[in-house]
Amino acid sequence: MAVSEKPLGIVFTTSEMAGFAKTGGLADVCAALPVALSRRGHNAAVIMPLYRSVRVGPIPIEPTKYLLSVPFGVRIVPSRLWRAQVPRTSVAVYFIEHPAFFERDDSRYARSYYQFTSWDGRKYDYGDNADRYIFFCRAAIEAMAHLDFTPHVVHANDWQAGLIPAYLRERHQLKPALRNLASLYTIHNIAYQGVFPAEIYPLTGLDKRLLNHRELEYHGKLSFLKAGVVCCDWVNTVSPTYAKEILTSEYGCGLEGVLQERERRLSGIVNGVDYTEWNPSTDKHLPLKYNEQNAEEGKAACKKELQSVFHLAQEPRTPIIGMVARLAEQKGIDITCALLDQWTDLPAQIVILGEGDPEYHQRLQELKAKYPKRIGVRIGFDEALAHKIEAGSDLFLMPSRYEPSGLNQLYSLKYGTPPVVRATGGLADTITDTTPTTLNNGIANGFSFKEYSAEALRNALERAIQYYASSTEFRKVQLTGMKQDWSWNRSASQYEELYLRLIEERS
Ligand code: ADP
Repeated sequence: MAVSEKPLGIVFTTSEMAGFAKTGGLADVCAALPVALSRRGHNAAVIMPLYRSVRVGPIPIEPTKYLLSVPFGVRIVPSRLWRAQVPRTSVAVYFIEHPAFFERDDSRYARSYYQFTSWDGRKYDYGDNADRYIFFCRAAIEAMAHLDFTPHVVHANDWQAGLIPAYLRERHQLKPALRNLASLYTIHNIAYQGVFPAEIYPLTGLDKRLLNHRELEYHGKLSFLKAGVVCCDWVNTVSPTYAKEILTSEYGCGLEGVLQERERRLSGIVNGVDYTEWNPSTDKHLPLKYNEQNAEEGKAACKKELQSVFHLAQEPRTPIIGMVARLAEQKGIDITCALLDQWTDLPAQIVILGEGDPEYHQRLQELKAKYPKRIGVRIGFDEALAHKIEAGSDLFLMPSRYEPSGLNQLYSLKYGTPPVVRATGGLADTITDTTPTTLNNGIANGFSFKEYSAEALRNALERAIQYYASSTEFRKVQLTGMKQDWSWNRSASQYEELYLRLIEERS
């Protein structure tokens, strides 16, 4: 049941949307939330760059009749607006065309939209990222005049869309139809802030007076993320715990002071799961689909396949610990490697899928060479394998240093694969540690630890493995997770309340 009686018009601005361009959770949110809102009776559309992956992707796109005139520094740059319909939904996606910025035909470009891989194997940010996303933000404002519905609220995401709330605040520059738009700005990961030399600022076309330390300037530079935080009507993050954490110097990455000033207009909503994509009873990647009733049988078949994919011994009773992550320090890969290296009698198999920092690619390959019977490693991005790991593993590992919301722990709940997590951000909000009390109360759905260390991780894993051995209690933990509803509908109703509040404030 919708919170709002009247349909709201919500326009998302993002640099990624699953199905068109994805490097992580941001893309999943920007694909699923608009669809969930439209199913609740609202009008939702997405505006994003027209990358090469969009042009060659599975969902057909077509040019609209609109040629945008985008103010870009002293020039007006024309940009064709393209459009696609998300299959089986009423959500339209609009694409900002600029081939030189967004369609780089470069094999080294791989899956990264912001970086290239250099001859030394390392990734570097594109030198013109500021130009690219200033252009995107400014063009998105122009595109908002050409939607199929009247927008009431703009939902801007992450640093790449950070200037959009700034443009919206400069109302006198806007077309009359856009002058009363409410704005919500969501921080998916505060570690990525989009900070660039101030010399680039004239390209934005924004008033010079905004580049001061209370607004868009950050230590003498232009900060996209700070622009979003300072200029929007409301700041949001992807879990209540992360919303609190980023107010501290430990997690705030230098923006804690700015956020403290906005504390009364800052909140968190945990991301949802797209259960049409992540559901063991319909998952096309699994050798045997399963639900709560036949989970044991289903997971056994998936485990067998997983052991064979990773060339591990076919041992049905040895627990498999799965991990799918960007190989970055954020994800706790450093403590994982340290632990695996020293844990010579680990009573489990572990499979890791990921890509990222080349240093960890190497460390993981070394670990695999050292313990070939116990450790399976796949470096790369492989969606089908990610599904197989969720299903075939007995435990899912997320020892993150920080985790704004986290999706994989929610997927693993549905797949009957209790997560072992560090209690931070969204992991703290969604995973209830298994203890005799939580088990009794029927709320235990995983295992968690607090201190960021290999030792604390080891203790949690040992505990989880012990529970795995006592199958009735473990089964209870599995079933609690499988029954929980972490769907987008749940999160969408909370977003709906927030949009409504912001819209009402403007009327
Ligand atoms: P983040 O956005 O910080 O990377 P999340 O847990 O919120 O982390 O979301 C990660 C998403 O990306 C999940 O859908 C996960 O399955 C997917 N993913 C991450 N790395 C890989 C990989 N190497 N192969 C396939 N999917 C991956």
